[in-house]
Amino acid sequence: MKCPRCEAHRFSLVSLDEGLSARECGNCGGHWLPSFQYWRWLEKHGPNLPEKPKEEGFDAPTEGLDRAMICPECEHILVKAAAGHDLTFRVDRCYHCGGIWLDANEWEALKSRNLHDDIHLMYTQTWRKREGKSPKGG
Ligand SMILES: [Zn+2]
Ligand SMILES: [Zn+2]
Repeated sequence: MKCPRCEAHRFSLVSLDEGLSARECGNCGGHWLPSFQYWRWLEKHGPNLPEKPKEEGFDAPTEGLDRAMICPECEHILVKAAAGHDLTFRVDRCYHCGGIWLDANEWEALKSRNLHDDIHLMYTQTWRKREGKSPKGG
């Protein structure tokens, strides 16, 4: 498996949350969540967690890449979606196999706002619309 961000081959199996294992890149610290792992965890962890206010969480701004990222499982191009809700980064997902790529600290940042169980929603119209409407900077 090749890291979509830094192209290293140094993945190890880690546990991101109870019942959720992912692969962590030993070089850049990014995480790969295979689709089935994410959905199985979502089903088990019950109702959607209420979002926490901005003040209680933190952001994970990451440097952009000037090339497309490639899915480590099936080599299709990863599609970006803004995390939104005052988080400045974008998550990456493969539409082919459904896997999710998170750069270093992005999982932790999502979790700090209880948005880590909403990753699949970031790719829906509803999420984007809601983003467009929310006033920035209070
Ligand atoms: Zn990497
Ligand atoms: Zn894929």
